[in-house]
This record gives sequence, C-alpha cells and structure tokens, in this order.
Amino acid sequence: MLRRKVALFKLLGFTVSVDASWVIILFLVVWSLSKGVFPSYFPDLGEQTYWVMGVVGAMGLFVSILIHEFSHSLVARRYGLDIKGITLFIFGGVAEMKDEPATPKIEFLMAIAGPLASLMLAILFGALYLAANIGEMMVPVIGILWYLSLINMMVAVFNMLPAFPTDGGRILRALLWWIKGNINWATLVASRISLFFAVGIIFMGFMQLVGDNSIGGLWWILIGSFLFSAANTSYERLLVKQSFEGKTVRHFMNRAPVTVPSHITLQAFVDTYLYPYHYKMFPVTRNDRIVGIITVGILKSHLHEAWQHLEVGKVMQPQNAENSVDARTPINEALTKMTETGISRMLVTEQGRTVGIITLKDLLEYIALKMELETVP
Ligand SMILES: [Zn+2]
Repeated sequence: MLRRKVALFKLLGFTVSVDASWVIILFLVVWSLSKGVFPSYFPDLGEQTYWVMGVVGAMGLFVSILIHEFSHSLVARRYGLDIKGITLFIFGGVAEMKDEPATPKIEFLMAIAGPLASLMLAILFGALYLAANIGEMMVPVIGILWYLSLINMMVAVFNMLPAFPTDGGRILRALLWWIKGNINWATLVASRISLFFAVGIIFMGFMQLVGDNSIGGLWWILIGSFLFSAANTSYERLLVKQSFEGKTVRHFMNRAPVTVPSHITLQAFVDTYLYPYHYKMFPVTRNDRIVGIITVGILKSHLHEAWQHLEVGKVMQPQNAENSVDARTPINEALTKMTETGISRMLVTEQGRTVGIITLKDLLEYIALKMELETVP
C-alpha cells in the first residue's frame, strides 16, 4: 500500500512523489553524515559545517536517485511502456509501471539503465573530487564530492544484487526469461534466488550486530527483510495479474446468491439468514428482483428492540453506484474498488438490473486455487 505518498513536482512528463518513509530516511542520512561520516573522514571542521555538508550531501543523494529512476523511466517510455510516476521510498525509488515489459530485451535494457546511470554519476563525481583535490578547493566541497561519488557507486552495486525486485533481480529475470521463454518460470526462479540473497543479507546483519557494528548491522537486517518480503510477493502478484487478465466481473459473479425478502423483520433476518450464513451483506429482493442490500452495519444502526417490528425493506440500502459494479467491469478494477472502499461484497448490475453479487472471498479463493495449480513444487 503506497498510499502515504506526496507528489512533489512534474518533470519530463513524470510525476515525482516521495513516500512518507523517505522523510525518515532523509533525516537519518543527514544525521549520519553530519555526526558520523564527515567528522571521521574530514576532521577539524566546525559543527555547523558538518550539518551543512550533511544537508547538501543528502540533497545530492536525492538528485542522484532521481537521475537513476529517470533513466529507467525514459528507457521504459522509449519502448512504449506506460510509467505512472516516480516514487522515492525507503531504499531509493521505484518507477511505477502499469504493465510488465513485453520482451526480455526490454526488461533487460530498462533494468540496466538505472545502475548504469549511477555508475556514470559515480565516475563524474569521482572526477570532480580529483579535480577539487588538485585545485585545492575547500575541504567541505571535497568531502561532499567524495561522498557523492562513493554513494552512487554503492547504489549501483546494491542495485546489481541479483535480488528481485532490485534492478539486478530484474536483469536476472530477463536473462532467465530469455533462456526459457517463460516469464512465470523466470519470475519464480528469480524470486527463489532473491530469497536466498535476502536471507544471506539478514544473516550478515546479525553477524555485524553481534560484532561491534550495530548500526551497520541494523541497516543490513532492514535491507534484507525488505528484499525478503518484496521477493515473496513479486511472483504472487504476477500470478494474480495474469489470472485476472482480460476477465470481467461477469466471470466471477454469483448469479444465485442467498437473498433476503424485503417484507421480513430484522429479527427474522437475523435468525434465518445472518446466523446460518454469516455473510456481511445480503441482497434484498422485492417481487423476485434484487433492489438493495442489508448489511451487518445497517442492522447495528438500529436498536435491538426495534428488530421485532422493523422490516428489512424499510432499512435496506438501495442499490447504488457505491455498493454495485457493472458486469462488464474488468476484474482488476473491481478488485481495486473493493480494496479502496473496503466493501468486500457488491451487487452486480447488467443494463441497470441487478443480476447477482461478487465477493472478495470468491476472488481470493480463485487465486489461491490458481496458485496451487501453477506453483512448481
Ligand atoms: Zn533502479
């Protein structure tokens, strides 16, 4: 859920946003630069100077990561892939793609563009650092250039780790995909290798933690855990996307759901429907047509004493745009609507007539089944 992001600006047609986690990271970077890195490598400068160096260094890192992400996005656009925007988050950034690349070659070029950009930046800042040294520039300037050269090198190396979904992981997947011509297999194998790497990184973190490098150790553990969960979900997400590709609500709707007649009382509804079936929502019928819904929430908004005489038809919520979805809606869209509104059971309409219901539970069961059938043991 990347919903905690803030849009910053638009550049070359891409919207650049930052995830809330980035604010924390930015602070950590400034702090560790001003208090740790710069004082230990460039001693005898004033406290204030270190803070300025820290802020400028962090800003340089920010711009460097943006350049890295833009190179991914520009290559993607060059091959006709739709990029929604660029979001900077905890360990750098992500270019948000709407679709998967069509061929392994495109995926490879897109993935390698980022580390290449970082490598170029590392060389550029390295050259400037040497020039500044020769020209005997001010020490803070030399220090910042040194840091930016080093950090870009680290970004390039880290991203080349074959741990999906980093750039290296995507490069690995592109190669596997190219060898066998099967993206599912390639994603699965790349995910497995990534898990192996993630566990290795976490292990290294623990080793450093019990040694004397606790801050460094925590960083490794954090990075490893992030890679671990990302690798785990990337294959599942691909399967979910593929299973729903081209399918609409009609494919998954239940045409004969349990319905509640509008003339019964709330108490009768509780006894005959709610307890035996325990669904969160039931369609309500009048003259054999679905006209609205009754939910646990609606029931709870009426006093217990009133249940004996209030009729379902009196309190039901009529069918409307929020609680229903058209049968022709792509299933991915319906799924998004369900997760965004939190309504997991919806009415399905066909030419204005309610014809059934669709439930999140059914969709999830379908996915679970599909995954069980397709996962290579
Ligand atoms: Zn990248």
